[in-house]
Amino acid sequence: MLHHILLATRNEDKRRELSVMLGDEVIIHHPDEFSDQEVEETEDSLWGNALLKARHGFKSSGLPSVADDTGLEVDALNGEPGVYSSRYAGINATYNDNVNKLLKELKAFLEKERTTRFRTVIAYVDEHGEQRFDGLVEGTITMDKHGASGFGYDPVFKPDGYTITMAEMSLSTKNKISHRGKAFRAFVEWWQNKNNTD
Ligand code: IMP
Repeated sequence: MLHHILLATRNEDKRRELSVMLGDEVIIHHPDEFSDQEVEETEDSLWGNALLKARHGFKSSGLPSVADDTGLEVDALNGEPGVYSSRYAGINATYNDNVNKLLKELKAFLEKERTTRFRTVIAYVDEHGEQRFDGLVEGTITMDKHGASGFGYDPVFKPDGYTITMAEMSLSTKNKISHRGKAFRAFVEWWQNKNNTD
């Protein structure tokens, strides 16, 4: 049986990652089909922002809606940029601006002092209520940028147990180990179980 879901993000990088995990029996809808309003991330937590986006998606479409919010937590910077990861170098910062600012802030730190993690929180909203799913991956911020795949901070994020950055990995390897991959697999497992028992 075909299922419909709204993936409440306009970020094409995330849509690409998530659509491969949902499989063939799901029609994945886009926010533009229902609303041209961009939801502002005004909360100070990942869960708060994910929920804002998923709630707006459900309200505008009536479809089960899923959204994520992700942050990079750098220990040497007391957990920054965290929930502000997309705006680290300013409101209209590009991925590259943010990475450059991070490398600058960490300039004085040795590799072993550059421990970090990506954290993803996923919110799912439908007519029965709200659900939360979490995923994280530990790693190190490299001294320079490496690789051209992925997006965001991937060129400077080296996951624990790897000698390459996330931007040097294939999408399928990234999805296997990533924060978003883990959170999303937890969601997909729960969702498939629920659909089988409905
Ligand atoms: P968002 O608020 O969930 O869209 O994510 C905040 C920022 O974190 C994004 O603008 C990216 O810079 C970064 N980010 C999110 N997910 C990833 C990822 O998988 N790899 C690298 N950077 C990411």
